[in-house]
Amino acid sequence: MRLTVLGCSGSGPGPTSPASGYLVRAGDAHLTLDLGNGTFGALQRHLDPWALSATVFSHLHPDHCSDFASLAVHRRYHPRPPYDPTTRPLPVLAPREARTRLAAAYATSEAERAETDMTDIFSFQPFTDGGCIEVAGVTVRTGAVDHPCEAYAVRVEHEGRSLVYSGDTGPCTGLVETARGADVLLCEATWPHVTERWDEPPRGVHLSGRQAGEHAAAAGVGRLLITHVPAWYDAQALLAEAKEAFGGPAELVEPDTAYDV
Ligand SMILES: [Zn+2]
Ligand SMILES: [Zn+2]
Repeated sequence: MRLTVLGCSGSGPGPTSPASGYLVRAGDAHLTLDLGNGTFGALQRHLDPWALSATVFSHLHPDHCSDFASLAVHRRYHPRPPYDPTTRPLPVLAPREARTRLAAAYATSEAERAETDMTDIFSFQPFTDGGCIEVAGVTVRTGAVDHPCEAYAVRVEHEGRSLVYSGDTGPCTGLVETARGADVLLCEATWPHVTERWDEPPRGVHLSGRQAGEHAAAAGVGRLLITHVPAWYDAQALLAEAKEAFGGPAELVEPDTAYDV
């Protein structure tokens, strides 16, 4: 299995990276994990979007899903499609509200939405806490995490290897349970543990670098990849927090870079 970072800038695109989005290749399967602002452009440097097997969304905040609209335009209006997308709707594995939420992001009025049912070119498969979906020979497991909206940690398994993506989350057992024993944990770290504004980070939103490391240690993962650091924080400082708390191999991910799982 191989993870390619399309974008890793936390909470929105930054000067050196699109927002959150990743490409996972496992056997013959190609999955995207989130498609935040700017990631659809990056995707085209690494894969013909027609070769996608499924697209996966941890949650529906714009920095994780706004380029879905670009994927929809690509599937609907590309002049030379290799197949008729209405005969092979692309699986969208996502929170329950994805169909209406993503349709609203694509079509801007009720009249347009009435004519533009996203289900003609996508097949929506809702996530559940503890759920498991098989797609293109890959197993996708999900555990609910702690964020202001419905949000999931996503575990991708293929031929005995496992990659877990935290999505966005505050500290929670759902992330630890989903990541238990994984080879790689791709984990958000969005702010320092201590700042001039707080001695303890706010709960229920994001992880500090230290908390990302603590969750990786509690889950017993093999390797920690830190992502979702916003442009306004020092990524190396968040990595240092995570490394100290984890004690195992940890690094910051970089855009347009691939990682073997
Ligand atoms: Zn985010
Ligand atoms: Zn979010």
